[in-house]
Amino acid sequence: MSPELRCRACNAVVSDTFVDLGSSPLSNSYLRETDLDAMEPTYPLHARVCRECFLVQLPAFETPERIFGEHYPYFSSFSDTWLDHCRTYAQEVVGALDLGARSFVVEVASNDGYLLQYFAQRRIPVRGIEPAANVASAARKRGIPTDTVFLGAETAQRFVEEYGPADVVVANNVIAHVPNLHDFVQGLAVLLKRDGVLTVEFPHVLQLMEHVQFDTIYHEHFSYFGLMSAETVLPAHGLRVFDVQELATHGGSLRLWICRRESSRKETERVSTLRTRERSYGLLDMSRYAEFSSRVRLAKRDLLRYVIDTVEAGKRIAGYGAAAKGNTLLNYCGIRADMIEYVMDRNPEKIGRWLPGSRIPVVAPTVGRERRPDVLLILPWNIRNEVIAQLDDLRREGTRFVVAVPRVAVVA
Ligand SMILES: [Zn+2]
Repeated sequence: MSPELRCRACNAVVSDTFVDLGSSPLSNSYLRETDLDAMEPTYPLHARVCRECFLVQLPAFETPERIFGEHYPYFSSFSDTWLDHCRTYAQEVVGALDLGARSFVVEVASNDGYLLQYFAQRRIPVRGIEPAANVASAARKRGIPTDTVFLGAETAQRFVEEYGPADVVVANNVIAHVPNLHDFVQGLAVLLKRDGVLTVEFPHVLQLMEHVQFDTIYHEHFSYFGLMSAETVLPAHGLRVFDVQELATHGGSLRLWICRRESSRKETERVSTLRTRERSYGLLDMSRYAEFSSRVRLAKRDLLRYVIDTVEAGKRIAGYGAAAKGNTLLNYCGIRADMIEYVMDRNPEKIGRWLPGSRIPVVAPTVGRERRPDVLLILPWNIRNEVIAQLDDLRREGTRFVVAVPRVAVVA
């Protein structure tokens, strides 16, 4: 009998299955050649949903230090779509909050400085907080001051003593990756000036459910929020949502605009409208969550059928994008190098390695395109247009571009 799981947000006992994706290695543990003869640790990838606050979640099996330690290979700057999103965001925030040379912008999980650079270019003082040492050092090299720590109540306190509180605190695509949720949110609250604004982005669980994006579930992604489940976490830290935007990033994300409870900022109509939509979709209804598993199994059989038929017809399949999403998909479906020969990726940290679990080799696009695959499975379906544009020569020579989620579809 496993020990009982407690909800990360409300501490209720969590026992209801959202989806069980079997056992899988950590998504970002790309293998070196010397690892190929060794055992590979795997962990259950079994997402649950809390009956009390409806937070979809995975338990943490590894410490954040091990997951996001020294050599976390993710560099945000490698996706053009993502950089466009960040540039637009910076422009919007600077305008909406009238930021200038006396303001202070802090980003948590600032990665290689991909976002803060757009504030720095406007001479707005910035500072990043980034726990992965190799990534933080890349940020400093491009002139973005960055502290290498994990954010929590205590580290936030020390940060504020040294640099002062921030007018804007940015926490984009990080809150879902934090095992100790309350300590982290308390840290965000500590960083904030009295009338400061915090913006938080995360993939919307409603989109995950509606579009069967089960491949966005991986071990490093602990919490799957909606507006309402996120709102259950904030009051304990004196915070509230005053506005919300729906974004196209990561298959559909939310950007919450958050202030202190006592702030004079008025809650916009968009907040109540989205609450209503979440309620009518069924995010407060356990039966809605219960139906997700069967839709995921259907997607798996659909992909396997396509891959087997394609290989049996004598065609060769390659993948694009050595990202976490692809690893969940391939490992859950049991697809290995005997079906997908290799995966192309632009990130030099991943080239020359093997995907965890499936052990499919990762090659540079220059190498992969020369082998002229018949089918290219785009694993990060959210950047499909970018991939299609980048590999247009392959498309013109007859390679078919395919995505697997929510169902197999030829996209170019
Ligand atoms: Zn809960």
